[in-house]
Amino acid sequence: MSPHVLVLGGTAEARELAGVLAGVGGVRVTSSLAGRVSRPGVLAGDVRVGGFGGAEGLAAWVRAEGVDVLVDATHPFAERITANAARAAEVTGVPALVLRRPGWTAVPGDRWHPVPSLAGAADALPALGRRVLLTTGRLGLSAFAHLTDLDFLVRCVEPPQTPMPPRARVLLARGPFTVADETELLREQRIDVLVTKDSGGAATAAKLTAARRLGVPVVLVTRPALPGGVTAVAEVAGVLELLDLGGR
Ligand code: NAP
Repeated sequence: MSPHVLVLGGTAEARELAGVLAGVGGVRVTSSLAGRVSRPGVLAGDVRVGGFGGAEGLAAWVRAEGVDVLVDATHPFAERITANAARAAEVTGVPALVLRRPGWTAVPGDRWHPVPSLAGAADALPALGRRVLLTTGRLGLSAFAHLTDLDFLVRCVEPPQTPMPPRARVLLARGPFTVADETELLREQRIDVLVTKDSGGAATAAKLTAARRLGVPVVLVTRPALPGGVTAVAEVAGVLELLDLGGR
């Protein structure tokens, strides 16, 4: 029987992995999406949408659907689903992998201020500037809601629904972005501090280059740690190798 691979998705890497696995003969792939984005685009293989109901729900789904391998390819900041995946793998005994793109690395000229959380980013902001470009996503904006003196430009893919700072404007946009566009945005909006999560990857890295060139400081929210004992790989090729599918 074809091995059934469940890919927990919501990232470009998950999409790429589903495409590659669907093209491998004799593999069944199902991508799972949380359902946050209204138009997620076409994915290769089967797709299911919505939460499982915690680690137990995920474990039950894995058993019921005969999943042979679980790949957590969710976003580095999607901490709950990653913990649930590790727990579900443990209780079902199904082998599991985490596909996680590497974080960004500072280069000379960068003015990065690492902080452990959105609350930490909010604490750091007043000392760094007044006009803020916030690119940490629409969830968690309430962490900045008390900063009534700062002007925020909130860039996100979907309209925010949580409480926001009073002086906030929303810019709906989906990457990838170019360095030229990001430089123009920082200049035109007279941004004097940028806030981002350490998401890693090329699609949204241009803002860091633009900030470096313009001398704009960056408040960088560092990643949550992976659960203990999980096997993590940085690229789709690494998943194929571990699944022993590289040559198929
Ligand atoms: P989260 O806080 O880790 O997860 C919250 C709950 O959403 C989970 O407990 C689970 O519900 C459900 N869920 C999350 N990912 C799922 C998936 N791939 N399939 C089915 N259910 C899922 O996650 P989040 O930060 O809200 O992110 C949600 C999704 O957006 C993830 O798939 C992630 O890859 C993507 N994403 C997140 C970010 C970010 O910055 N956090 C950025 C870009 C994309 P149950 O407990 O009911 O199963």
